[in-house]
Amino acid sequence: MAASVDSAAPGTRATPASPTAPVPWVAMYHSVGDCSDDPYRITVTPARLDRQLGWLRRRGLRGVSVAELLAARAEGRGRGLVGLTFDDGYADFVDHALPVLRRHGFGATLFVLPGRLGGDNAWDPLGPRKPLLTADGIREAAAGVEIGSHGLTHVDLTKADDTVLRAETAGSRALLEELAGAPVAGFCYPYGTVDRRAVDAVCAAGYRYACAIDPGPLTGPHALPRLHIGQRDTAVRLHLKYRLHRLRRRPVEGTP
Ligand SMILES: [Zn+2]
Repeated sequence: MAASVDSAAPGTRATPASPTAPVPWVAMYHSVGDCSDDPYRITVTPARLDRQLGWLRRRGLRGVSVAELLAARAEGRGRGLVGLTFDDGYADFVDHALPVLRRHGFGATLFVLPGRLGGDNAWDPLGPRKPLLTADGIREAAAGVEIGSHGLTHVDLTKADDTVLRAETAGSRALLEELAGAPVAGFCYPYGTVDRRAVDAVCAAGYRYACAIDPGPLTGPHALPRLHIGQRDTAVRLHLKYRLHRLRRRPVEGTP
């Protein structure tokens, strides 16, 4: 059975999700730019991002980094906050996402790959090559958002040997802290794949939190579930995702 951080008693009627719910609402983005050739559906246009953030703002919600979200919740100030995350560290973040975030007064967390500085998304067999941020680009982004690690090179940690696992977690953190000149608190599992060994490695590397994708038995501060937000997420779909967020994380009880 899947575990859940939802503290509601089994059988309790689900209530609509809210930012004060036990599970924080964390949105997952990747690239922001032209999405005409986008087989993995990882891209939203700047105009779509603008409308989605506007939707949050109209509901009285504010997008923040995951570090800020968790710190606020720990002090009982999480109401109205939504975590915004951008994976992979695409170069378009600085040109297209940062200006939109600034316009809305929102923060975010950008998960980058210090082992692929100035490279591209070579791990995706299909689709267009997208350039990744250089060291200078990451420093530019760091002026506006939280920088977290996505590992060194985008490998599935559940398939990595001990040496690679340590390099991808502890090694990437050390590189990023040197690059950005600031502590790095957050990690994000490539592909969202996570197991106990990967969680232990991330904890041992000193990360205070880590983002996964799907909820599961490891859900917690070092495997935070996130919701994919894409180009097709208009206001209506965002509304549904927002309401279903809590339901999605409830354990399945007594399957007939
Ligand atoms: Zn990724």
